[in-house]
Amino acid sequence: MQRSFPTLRAAARWLLLAAVSAAGFALGVAASRPAPLSQAAVLPTPPPAGQPAPGRGPGGSSLPGAAPPASQAELPPLVCLTFDDGPSRTTPAVLAALEEAEVPATFFVVANENNESYLPLIRQAAQAGCEIALHSASHRYSDIYRSADAFWEDIALLRQRIAPYVDDGEVRCLRFPGGSTNTVSRKYGGDALMGQLKEQAEEQGWRWVDWNVSAEDAAGKKLSAEEVCRNVTGGSAGLERCIVLMHDSATTGTTAEALPSIIRWYKEEGYAFCTVSQLYDALE
Ligand SMILES: [Zn+2]
Repeated sequence: MQRSFPTLRAAARWLLLAAVSAAGFALGVAASRPAPLSQAAVLPTPPPAGQPAPGRGPGGSSLPGAAPPASQAELPPLVCLTFDDGPSRTTPAVLAALEEAEVPATFFVVANENNESYLPLIRQAAQAGCEIALHSASHRYSDIYRSADAFWEDIALLRQRIAPYVDDGEVRCLRFPGGSTNTVSRKYGGDALMGQLKEQAEEQGWRWVDWNVSAEDAAGKKLSAEEVCRNVTGGSAGLERCIVLMHDSATTGTTAEALPSIIRWYKEEGYAFCTVSQLYDALE
């Protein structure tokens, strides 16, 4: 699996830059924004319910240092498969599907009393070329979004718990539980909390990441593998860059079941697979 990454990285460097230029257009980022790009410029935030995902509009702006303009049609599409809320009993099936297809993914992990015995799986994932990233130790909104201090204490605990299995220096990305646009944090920590957390994350050098495609596999309703696949592929149609939110929690076994079909679809559509950090690294 590892062997395909350098090729991707080398081949896709300018293409990524151009793709992000297009994203900047879609997100309304000023064309004069200096490199390196901030998280907001690089990665999309999830669209509010009922609105189209960002990145669907025509591209065309350019950033300083970016490659010569290229139309969206000339860019190879890119996909980051991401899994939240694991590891769990679902994770081995996810890893098996990834390894079988020789594609990487990024895991935004949790570490609490429920999944302790599955934590060694993150070592296996990292060894297979996947990226391990931070989500939350407890994932309890009422706890982590009480205050900025409470949030960072939870993150410190998570890092401590995963430290036996993954090199802490290689953990660079973070996904806020509920996403960076979540509203639940207001209830516990006030209106200003999320803005403060994003700022602090950037100050500390964390790359925080949302998504622009969702499997909707943790929305409460139990989905079939076919529904998961349809949500992902339907949400990706026409997108040049996909950061796909899926879950490898104890209750999302059908996502693992859907994964071979999902991967096949992206391959047939000509997408290249990369981890979230590979996307960032290619921009620096
Ligand atoms: Zn989560």
